[in-house]
Amino acid sequence: MRFPPTRDTAIERLESFLPNAAKYAKLRNFDFGPAERSNVSGLSPYLRTRLITEDEVSRAVLGRFAASSVDKFLQEVAWRTYWKGWLEMRPQVWDRYLSDLDGLDRSDDYDAAIAGRTGIDCFDSWARELVEHGYLHNHTRMWFASIWVFTLRLPWQLGADFFMRHLLDGDPASNTLSWRWVAGLHTKGKHYLARASNIAKYTDGRFNPTGQLDESAGPLPQDHEFERMPLELQDFSPPDGRIGHLVLADDLAPPPCEVMSTGVATECLREAAQPVHNFLRGALEDTRQRYGGVALTGDLGEAVQAWVADEKLDAIVVARPAVGPWRQVLDNLEAGVPVHPFVREWDRKLWPSATAGFFKLRKQLPKFFDSLAVSG
Ligand SMILES: Cc1cc2nc3c(=O)[nH]c(=O)nc-3n(C[C@H](O)[C@H](O)[C@H](O)COP(=O)(O)OP(=O)(O)OC[C@H]3O[C@@H](n4cnc5c(N)ncnc54)[C@H](O)[C@@H]3O)c2cc1C
Repeated sequence: MRFPPTRDTAIERLESFLPNAAKYAKLRNFDFGPAERSNVSGLSPYLRTRLITEDEVSRAVLGRFAASSVDKFLQEVAWRTYWKGWLEMRPQVWDRYLSDLDGLDRSDDYDAAIAGRTGIDCFDSWARELVEHGYLHNHTRMWFASIWVFTLRLPWQLGADFFMRHLLDGDPASNTLSWRWVAGLHTKGKHYLARASNIAKYTDGRFNPTGQLDESAGPLPQDHEFERMPLELQDFSPPDGRIGHLVLADDLAPPPCEVMSTGVATECLREAAQPVHNFLRGALEDTRQRYGGVALTGDLGEAVQAWVADEKLDAIVVARPAVGPWRQVLDNLEAGVPVHPFVREWDRKLWPSATAGFFKLRKQLPKFFDSLAVSG
């Protein structure tokens, strides 16, 4: 599967996946290999950057099928939202992950794991697939993380970092929290153990690591209690005067109000492999061209101030970055005019239910998707 970084590709991919959406529940867990991926959408790099939004994808699916026949797919789309909302309320988990990462040594076993030289065929093949394609199937991400933590006994933070460096869809919330979930740190006492029989079944016999996996390990011991913080969801109303839309790599979708000018920050802010940079740079350039925007290069504060002056802007609106590297940059930005961050309706409606487990948010989904189908 290749991921050209354009909105047109995201729309084409959605169109080609739509006929399969009703079969998703039955087939989604199979990883038939990189050449055959029509059972899943392959939309994550586009959803992650919001080259296409969760709202657009859900409405397209609901425009074609009754909600009851595509509920599994819609729920998966909502998992991304759940993880983001959960981390919004516990940003310390992200900070802690970064500081843990700083203090960890990269051993020979770690080098062998990321180079695909462990001797466990499936794992080695997935390590190479990740580096080559910038993508792994969801079930495979679960198996990979589980083998990393429970069979290879490597620190989960280093595995999460390996994913973040190579996944085109690398996302602080989905990635960090999924690794924690596999390790047994998200839901107390519950961890995910990869089993050879499950891998053989869902890779359609491509792999069978019988006897190579630790199938009886317990969850990792709890690390910390992370206190839940209140969600910041101020109402947004468009400021007066000439408004500019500042676009950061976190969210490339249009703003919720009319604007006079768009400034696109060309920085990716990810310590990642070249294909990730190529994807993000391409996505930013595609966005700049679609909006007829100005590229903001170099020091962000200076570039923004020059753009504000050139376009005689009175205020800036910007999608508030989720917890991750962009959040701090925006918090420290000196733009010379007031900056008005907004949180999209999708997140505003669902994040408040991400206080504990996914179940609470899932219970809201039928009503939520009904309202989308009606208004769509
Ligand atoms: C250890 C681990 C690390 C992960 N890291 C990331 C990451 O960095 N970035 C990322 O976007 N996803 C991550 N995921 C979630 C998931 O694996 C990918 O979103 C999914 O595989 C993307 O493929 P797809 O678009 O074909 O998904 P589909 O199966 O077609 O699902 C449609 C959409 O639903 C969302 N989705 C599906 N499953 C999940 C899930 N389990 N969690 C969150 N959202 C989901 C995605 O937006 C996806 O594009 C991770 C999962 C695990 C187990």
